[in-house]
Amino acid sequence: MDKAPDCPIITRMKQDADILIVGGGLNGPALALALAGGGLRVTVVDARPAPARAEAGFDGRAYSLAHASKRLLSVIGVWPHIADLVQPILEIKASDGHAGTGAAPFFLHFDHAEIEEGPMGFMVEDRHLYAAFLAAMQAAPNITLLSGETVTAQSTDQTGVTVTLASGRQLSARLLVGCDGRASGTAQRAGISRSGWAYGQTALVTAVEHDRPHNGIAHQFFMPQGPLAILPLPGNRSSIVWSEETTRATQIQALNDSDYLNALRPRFGDFLGNIKLAGTRFTYPLNLTLANSFIAPRLALVGDAAHGVHPIAGQGLNLGLRDVGALAQVLIEAQRRGEDFGAVDVLERYQQWRRFDTTALALGMDSVNRLFSNDNPLLRMARDLGMGAVNAMPALRRRFIRTAAGLDGDLPRLLQGQQI
Ligand SMILES: Cc1cc2nc3c(=O)[nH]c(=O)nc-3n(C[C@H](O)[C@H](O)[C@H](O)COP(=O)(O)OP(=O)(O)OC[C@H]3O[C@@H](n4cnc5c(N)ncnc54)[C@H](O)[C@@H]3O)c2cc1C
Repeated sequence: MDKAPDCPIITRMKQDADILIVGGGLNGPALALALAGGGLRVTVVDARPAPARAEAGFDGRAYSLAHASKRLLSVIGVWPHIADLVQPILEIKASDGHAGTGAAPFFLHFDHAEIEEGPMGFMVEDRHLYAAFLAAMQAAPNITLLSGETVTAQSTDQTGVTVTLASGRQLSARLLVGCDGRASGTAQRAGISRSGWAYGQTALVTAVEHDRPHNGIAHQFFMPQGPLAILPLPGNRSSIVWSEETTRATQIQALNDSDYLNALRPRFGDFLGNIKLAGTRFTYPLNLTLANSFIAPRLALVGDAAHGVHPIAGQGLNLGLRDVGALAQVLIEAQRRGEDFGAVDVLERYQQWRRFDTTALALGMDSVNRLFSNDNPLLRMARDLGMGAVNAMPALRRRFIRTAAGLDGDLPRLLQGQQI
């Protein structure tokens, strides 16, 4: 195969890796595994010490993984590590609600039986997912993980990129990928600006144990103050993502456990019997933050570094895994064709594939949150009528189910369950 003209072989051989990933949270490891599967040498630098996170007990953090994300995780060798630890999501029920009345009679109901692929998604605890990523990375000979190391500077030239770590060590590669989360320093250092706004809401995140089984049903209650998601975990446990106006959330978080539960109960209702806390209590201030470009010379952004969205539909990580599938496919195919995969025209293919999709989804979630996080009676009537109409139309309902399962749109091969 022809070598790319602007990337002499001598320079490539001197580089520490083909691709350097800043951030070993969730999308970073997924991308490293996807790229390594295509024969590329990858170094992942993560500020957090890896063993501490993998060996942690259950801290209440969990994710809903769409069906398509499960396919990607299967191909990159992560799914076998978590298959016995996940909770399938068989149904989703969404209802308008008011604290004190618990769940209103549901007005939207999605059942996985209406599509052929199986469960719409799976709930997995952060500690299990991260440990699975770590095990898979450690087993991959062409991945180097530097955890507990922080990138403090980066520079690019025609053939590659060099980063400097806080320890003073320097690393070079042909391409730098920022998987360093919502406040991406990789994007900032490259001069990529961001758009977005704060929601004035904070998510209270924890897990509860309950008397009755959840039967694999995920609930979303739309309260005037913000949505409450009750997501099934293995056993009689559920993950809670409870969005409240920030001042109120701060007050609730300051309560002791018993008063916290007393504040949650009227919102949660009693449909699962009595509830008690089963995880640490976290808060996350909610904002929308979109990078104004997903690429720069020798650089690409993936996951929250590119788009931090409202957790209303539990899609943040799923969007990131779509980025992973798209970028890995673009880079590996470019490499196979003998192109310089760090060149701007190659990176532009990734940006074109992902930027419109993520912006549309981020703004869609933003609108849903605005439409539902208020108590205007006219708006309540309009949205109840709208949702009732969706519920009454099987074709439309099926489309929503496929979207929730991540099966719509131009899916990268990994999300179709295929090798690149
Ligand atoms: C309340 C809440 C609930 C959510 N629920 C869901 C859900 O159910 N389903 C779903 O799909 N998504 C969900 N999400 C979204 C999901 O958590 C994120 O999309 C996902 O964690 C982003 O992963 P990431 O790897 O892109 O970034 P992060 O997980 O933020 O990882 C970034 C990593 O970069 C490292 N880093 C940063 N700077 C540097 C540096 N200079 N040098 C080295 N390392 C660095 C950090 O240490 C960190 O490990 C939720 C989010 C919130 C807030």
